[in-house]
Amino acid sequence: MFSFKFLGKTHIPHHKNTADMPAVRMPSPKEVLLPMAQHIGAPATPIVKIGDEVKLGQRIADPTGFVSSPIYASVSGKVSKIEEYLRPDGSKVQAVRIVSDGQMQAFEGLTPPTVDSLDALIEAVKESGLVGLGGAGFPTAVKLGALKGGKVDKIVVNGAECEPFITSDTRTMLDNIDLIREAVALFERFAPSVKQFIFGVEANKPSAIAKLKEAFAQNDKVVVKKLPARYPQGAEKVLVYNTTGLVIPEGKLPADVGAIVINVTTLAVLASYVKTGMPLVERTVTVDGSAVKSPKNVIAPIGTSLAEIVEFAGGYVEPIGKALVGGPMMGKCAASLDEPITKTTGSILLFNVKDSEEKQSSNCIHCGRCVTSCPLALNPVEYSRALDYDSREERIAILKREKIMLCMECGCCSYVCPAKRPLVQNNVLAKAQYRAYLAEQKAKEQK
Ligand code: SF4
Ligand code: SF4
Repeated sequence: MFSFKFLGKTHIPHHKNTADMPAVRMPSPKEVLLPMAQHIGAPATPIVKIGDEVKLGQRIADPTGFVSSPIYASVSGKVSKIEEYLRPDGSKVQAVRIVSDGQMQAFEGLTPPTVDSLDALIEAVKESGLVGLGGAGFPTAVKLGALKGGKVDKIVVNGAECEPFITSDTRTMLDNIDLIREAVALFERFAPSVKQFIFGVEANKPSAIAKLKEAFAQNDKVVVKKLPARYPQGAEKVLVYNTTGLVIPEGKLPADVGAIVINVTTLAVLASYVKTGMPLVERTVTVDGSAVKSPKNVIAPIGTSLAEIVEFAGGYVEPIGKALVGGPMMGKCAASLDEPITKTTGSILLFNVKDSEEKQSSNCIHCGRCVTSCPLALNPVEYSRALDYDSREERIAILKREKIMLCMECGCCSYVCPAKRPLVQNNVLAKAQYRAYLAEQKAKEQK
């Protein structure tokens, strides 16, 4: 069926329970909490103060630096607090709390941007606050900057949505096909170097594939590629290879091989902003998992607490053993349901106690499954071995030799390990140690 050997072979259950459920918009939450870092890069800086009245879509924080993104009020109401927020990765950032007035009144100053050139399009995307909505959170305007050189001839649209349970991108493809078409038209008009738009969608989304094929039947620049429903088709390097055959060399970006990758919902939001002038203020979030009463796709203002979204979706039926923001393979555990959703949240998954039990790990039996399952042919056994060394020198030497920084933390190795070893957790730790070593080396060089 596939014309060339593909990357990513791990069979995982799909659990796409909400794929047929159009997203339901929740009413205004009681309040929202908007962290200043919802993207890769420098945190934004608040431009409002306690007591300020704000409207929906009003800018409340400016970007700081080239790789950064503005943040907009996702409800109308009053700024009640500017506080410190502890992010799931342990870092702290400022966050703006807004008590909603329940009106969702739009900011009067919102107007669609004038887009008459590639520069204007990129500027509009920057203004929109758009970041990679597939979870990466890289500011989209910075990524689109690669189009200026005229060397990018392909846009790969990520509609793979390969994590179990999550169906928010699927709903975008089914419910917002006009926006997707408008976005493609914008790039056709203002980025003439782009000769092909390749949508990569897993085979387990036949309706989305059919919808895209129908929408672009008359456009020979658009290719809809059915990808095997094997994890992780949505990982950037895997997706680029499986849709184009291009290999992204170590330390390089897709743009270095003439492609940029855009998540399909990011594409739709981009078109929506150009049309309406309403910046990124809401997300479609899949609420699912064994503890959820009635799984749903919910459109919620960014900054709404997980608890309010889950309550709107019908609540939970059993005590929660684990709450995840993101998918079961790459998502992060939520410390509390008081946490807000951010620009990059695509799902909230709640599992009952039984499904959340930690598996007992045992000794490695040297079966090699972790290596053969890795889409990038890395060796996670070596990363775990490196962590056992007392000598930092030896540890770093192994991590360097085994290219630890290539690990994308997809979780395939952990998933297939019959000994239930915490491989991906070890990889994360090893990466942090290697990153610290690189930072030290850089600091030494700069002295
Ligand atoms: S987590 Fe890293 S080492 Fe493990 S399979 Fe994924 S890329 Fe390979
Ligand atoms: S899959 Fe698990 S048991 Fe097999 S080699 Fe890898 S770490 Fe060892």
